[in-house]
Amino acid sequence: MERENFNQRVIMSEAQDRAEVVVVGAGLAGLACALDLVALGRDVRLVEASDGVGGRVRTDAVDGFLLDRGFQVILEAYPELRRRVDLKALDLKAFYPGALVRIGNEVHRMADPGLEMADALRSITAPVGTFADKLRVARLRQEVVGGDAERLLEAPAGTTEEVLREAGFSEGMIDRFFRPFFGGVLLDPTLGVSGRLFRYYFRMFAEGTSSLPATGMEALPRQLAGRLPEGTLQLDHPVRKVTASRVEFEGGGSLEAEAVVVAVEGPEAARLLGDRVADPGSRSVTCLYFDAPESPVNEEILVLNGNGPSDGPVNNLAVLSDVARGYAPSGRALISVTVVGEPNGSELELEQDVRRQLTGWYGDQVSGWKAIRQYRIAHAQPLQTPALMTSPRRPVRLDNGLFVCGDHRDHASLNGALSSGKRAAREVHRALS
Ligand SMILES: Cc1cc2nc3c(=O)[nH]c(=O)nc-3n(C[C@H](O)[C@H](O)[C@H](O)COP(=O)(O)OP(=O)(O)OC[C@H]3O[C@@H](n4cnc5c(N)ncnc54)[C@H](O)[C@@H]3O)c2cc1C
Repeated sequence: MERENFNQRVIMSEAQDRAEVVVVGAGLAGLACALDLVALGRDVRLVEASDGVGGRVRTDAVDGFLLDRGFQVILEAYPELRRRVDLKALDLKAFYPGALVRIGNEVHRMADPGLEMADALRSITAPVGTFADKLRVARLRQEVVGGDAERLLEAPAGTTEEVLREAGFSEGMIDRFFRPFFGGVLLDPTLGVSGRLFRYYFRMFAEGTSSLPATGMEALPRQLAGRLPEGTLQLDHPVRKVTASRVEFEGGGSLEAEAVVVAVEGPEAARLLGDRVADPGSRSVTCLYFDAPESPVNEEILVLNGNGPSDGPVNNLAVLSDVARGYAPSGRALISVTVVGEPNGSELELEQDVRRQLTGWYGDQVSGWKAIRQYRIAHAQPLQTPALMTSPRRPVRLDNGLFVCGDHRDHASLNGALSSGKRAAREVHRALS
């Protein structure tokens, strides 16, 4: 990781206490907003509380392993991502389009009919759903693909579970496949998230592969940050307070501006902006990483718990070094385990529960795995119930002259964050013009 290079561009003399636009928060939304404003000829400062760019998309290098802060993937079909990111330069390593689902003590393959037809035909007899369910998957696929993907966010829908029931899926298919798969994507195994998002993600999965950059997820925001002009980015500068024309930093110092964009995560946006932006609430997730002498899966595929919580806390698992070799040192395997939510017990208690469950999956080899690190992410995504998503794009210009962007303005995804940043940049440019 070349963190030093970034720190070099961070230096900004205290004398430069003015900028035309200040963007607060260097996650994907803030980066997109800052880049678009720069492209429109604006003088921009991007100020970030932490020691790096990316926000929720960061990667830690630990003893030769690359640990993304929570299991996440790039969906290559994301429209805004495709427009602005050089995907080739990320050297993406694709997951198999489908999943292995554990039901009882058996493992069944579910393949995406659009991307892996031969496997999909073979998986028709897998007891993950009925034969009719497999046809319903194909029908749903037909319904969502084609035309502008944004239409799926605009069409009214109940919860994801309601959408699945309306489409006629059986209990078995919902519980064994959709609940762990989309419960993992939307961080809500109750499938109470808006069906608009379900349809949108279903299309994204149908239209392209999910992948990891060869050098970790942080390569994505770092690519964007690398395009900022020298001196634009200022790390390690937590903002304490904002007004329409000024930001004040924790520990002193401030920046004057003609426009201020708050590009921080939802709960922090609510703190900085008072009652102008409501706290969107939080979906949390916990990710455990294990170092193993060999992969228990030996395939670039997601493994789902199709048995539900009675099996244990693990929702899904993937051996990231099977997907992208560089995630682990030579001769080792990196296992990523996702537990949806933030468990009450200690890290050790959770690790023991996870080991117990995975011993049921993979046997005694699990005792030879070394726990590397656990990430408990309290705010992984904002809540996205049908009521909260009635307007899929919330305003980015506030009535007090401030601007706001972030996934809580669009929807919780890499694409949603980028697209909210783009909208905010446009509004700022219009206001300053
Ligand atoms: C574990 C996990 C898995 C995910 N998986 C996927 C996935 O597979 N695919 C997908 O599309 N999406 C996924 N997401 C969602 C996606 O990562 C987010 O929606 C997106 O990254 C949000 O970007 P953002 O810019 O809106 O916010 P953030 O990334 O949260 O950026 C906000 C930035 O503001 C900074 N900040 C906060 N307060 C201050 C302050 N006071 N002063 C200065 N700076 C401040 C923060 O440090 C941060 O850098 C996942 C998220 C998590 C956590």
